[in-house]
Amino acid sequence: MKHRGSPAGWSQGSPGRILRYTGAIDEARDSLPDSPWYEKGLHFQCVRCGRCCGGGPGTIRASDAEIEALAKRLGLDPTRFREKYTRKLRRGEVSLREKLNHDCVFYDRKQGCTVYEDRPRQCRTWPFWRSVVHSRETWAEAAERCPGMDVGRLHRRSQIEGSIRNDGTSTSPRVRRTPAV
Ligand code: SF4
Ligand code: SF4
Repeated sequence: MKHRGSPAGWSQGSPGRILRYTGAIDEARDSLPDSPWYEKGLHFQCVRCGRCCGGGPGTIRASDAEIEALAKRLGLDPTRFREKYTRKLRRGEVSLREKLNHDCVFYDRKQGCTVYEDRPRQCRTWPFWRSVVHSRETWAEAAERCPGMDVGRLHRRSQIEGSIRNDGTSTSPRVRRTPAV
């Protein structure tokens, strides 16, 4: 899903892609607050609406290990997989490609994610990304587009912070370091 008018590097534009983070908030990755606004936990349960896998351009970062797993799943050599299904980002990071309609290359509008068990970490950790949990406002903005947020299962602070320490929205070693808390 795309964030409209959001801070922290989200792309502007059509609703549709949650999972594909398009900006850089790397500066904020080194600290977590002592008493965060989400201290009592946050509710989230995916309703599989699929909005986050298509609908607008974005990035779906994948690490080397994730690419190897996806290649194995499809019976492809990793090099061939990279050629066919990925594109390079700045700083040497890699994103899964999109179809012409901007849906993720692995998203099927009837079946959903066709590589679900091997989807990248970025896809698994939504909505507990640092950029989303950053403030009540960023969370609320994302929740406008994701019907699974603020409903369903309660996720504890420890779970949330475990996710945002390594949310998969960047695979660059420079920004993947674990923040001191
Ligand atoms: S509920 Fe949210 S996370 Fe689940 S598919 Fe819909 S937009 Fe994506
Ligand atoms: S890999 Fe799967 S979950 Fe991730 S964006 Fe693509 S279709 Fe969605």
